[in-house]
Formats: sequence, structure tokens, C-alpha cells
Amino acid sequence: MPPYRVVVADFIVDELQAEREVLGDLAELTMLRATSEKDLLGQIEEADAIMMYHTIVISKATIARLKHCKVIVRCGVGYDNIDHAFARTRRIPVANVPDYGTEEVADSAIGLMLALTRGINFFNRRLQRQPEPWSFMSGAPLLRLRGRVFGIIGLGRIGTATARRAQALGMDVVFYDPYKPDGFDKALGIRRVEKLDDLLRQSFVLSLHCPLTAETKHLIDARALALLPEGAFLVNTSRGGTVDVAAIPPAIRSGQLRGAGIDVLPEEPPPLDHPLIAAWRDPADPCHERVIINPHTAFYSEEGLLDMRVKGAQTCRRALLGEPLRNVVN
Ligand code: NAD
Repeated sequence: MPPYRVVVADFIVDELQAEREVLGDLAELTMLRATSEKDLLGQIEEADAIMMYHTIVISKATIARLKHCKVIVRCGVGYDNIDHAFARTRRIPVANVPDYGTEEVADSAIGLMLALTRGINFFNRRLQRQPEPWSFMSGAPLLRLRGRVFGIIGLGRIGTATARRAQALGMDVVFYDPYKPDGFDKALGIRRVEKLDDLLRQSFVLSLHCPLTAETKHLIDARALALLPEGAFLVNTSRGGTVDVAAIPPAIRSGQLRGAGIDVLPEEPPPLDHPLIAAWRDPADPCHERVIINPHTAFYSEEGLLDMRVKGAQTCRRALLGEPLRNVVN
């Protein structure tokens, strides 16, 4: 019998083959398929390591019940769904897997941007409902991307990968990130602003790549949207809570926003009567053609998913063997 117990809490529903290859000699693996924190009750207390994804929350109450947990691995980037500060007080390291999907998220952000600014989603939606006019005129005017400002909030891994892609399209890339040391603008050949409002005032496309924190919650609200140039585009592949999504439908209807690409929502799946979801589903509302919503898929590729599982399991292995850990966030 392997000496340790590792619990895979949520999200993974198929065989734990990838995890077993890394941990099989050391640990007995259990998959919980939890869909909420209460499903963990009675299942995780004896775990030596926990792997968790983005579909559940792990709060203080759950962490307090752990008897000998050596690590909690958030298999993914954002760790706003675990009380990592409390885990630190219990001397339980929380580590993430920061690099499994950097390119996928950047590709998705640029994909959403192109679908919006080139009218791809708009024309497709419109023709499905009404095949005439079969002409670019129904979506005019579309503006050339070259030279236009691509504004980035948060120049970390994904923000940087997105910046390089936007540069390849000839866009004028500008970023706001108060925590980035000097020099990244020089290294990448992009521009930096010190104030968020300066970024907003010039962004033809605004793309969010910051974590969800107390500071970034609703960073983009009705006030921020009003500062964008009229007819700007919003792309959010960060976390749902960074944007006050209820502010999007009025901004679309007034023309202040010409389109929005939303991969992440504050609540996933969202309630169907949420103002944004209701407007997006209503063929009579401009949001129907001008808003693209995806179910938190920006990270996803088969290769990335495997990386996330294998790297998460490797972190558990290091913790069980008492080796130095990588990517500890608390
Ligand atoms: P990262 O830590 O490398 O970069 C985040 C950047 O945001 C950092 O440079 C940080 O300084 C900056 N930042 C922090 N607070 C800020 C603020 N108030 N204003 C502006 N910038 C701020 O993380 P990453 O790997 O680039 O990931 C970014 C975010 O993308 C994650 O936090 C995660 O929530 C999200 N994400 C989403 C998906 C998806 O599938 N949609 C997948 C992976 C990550």
C-alpha cells in the first residue's frame, strides 16, 4: 500500500492516468468530482496532498479540518478560490501551476479580439437571422487594426504573450501594471502608462490579464467603460470578477462599446436571468451580435490540460518527498 493519500478534488472526471504515472508509487489517489465545497466534507481530512481546479472554493473551514496535508496544489493559474492566507497560518503551502496554458489564453484573447474587430461574430450572427443584405455594409464601419492601441491590464506571463501577438498584428501595445519593475516596455518595445485612466482613454481594444484581487474586483466598471474611446472593444480572459459585467449591456446599447469578448464570468455557469446573459441570448438586443461569451475555455488545449495535471502531480510528489517546492503562492 503506498504510504500517502492524494485527493483530486474537482473538475477531472476521467481516469487519473496522468496523475498515477507521477504519483502511483508514492500515493493512493482518490478523485472526488466535487462540484461544491460541501462535497469535500469527510473526504479530504486525511489527505497528504490535495489537487484542486477552478470549479470549487476551498475556504478556511475546509483547511482547518486538514490533519496532515503537506501541500494544496491549485492546478491552474488564478488562486482566488482558495484561502491561501489561512493555509499559510496552518503551515500548508499552496502552489499553483502557472505555465500550462499561457499561450492558449493569449491565443484566445487575440482570437476574441479579431472576431470582434473584424466583425466575424457580428456578420455570422446577423446572417443566420437575416440573410440580407449579404454585404459588409451591415457591419460597417470596421477599422484597420494596424496602429491602433491594444491596451493591456496586467503584463504578466499571459499579458506578455498577448502583447507579442498584438505587436505582430501591427498594433500599438500599451500596458498598465503597477507591480511590474521598470524595463519591460523597453524589452518588448511597447509603451507603459502609470495610471489606469491613461490606458483607458486611449485603448481601442482593452484586454485584461491581471489576477482577481481586492484591488482588481470591478476594476472595469461603468466609469471605466465610459473613459474608453467611443466604439472600443473589451476582452476579458482574466477572471469574471475583474469586470462589472452588468455595465456591459448599457455600454453596448449606447455604442460606447462596439463589442465584448468574455471568457470568464463572476459566476460560472451564470444565472440565465443575469442582465448580460439575458441580453446576449435575446436576438432583439444588440448584445446578441456584439458580445461573445465562452465558458471559461481560454486555457484549454489537450496538451495544456495534460501539462496542468502532470505539473500539479509533480508538485505533490515534491511535497510528499520533502523536496523544495516551486510556484508557492503563500
Ligand atoms: P501573472 O501572475 O504572470 O500576471 C499577472 C499580472 O497582473 C502581474 O504582472 C501583476 O503585476 C499584474 N497585476 C496585479 N495586480 C494588478 C493591478 N491591480 N493592475 C494591473 N496589473 C496587476 O499571471 P498570468 O499567468 O499572466 O495570468 C493572469 C490571469 O489570467 C490569472 O490571474 C488568471 O486569473 C487568469 N487566467 C485565466 C485563464 C482562462 O482560462 N480564462 C487561464 C489562466 C489564467
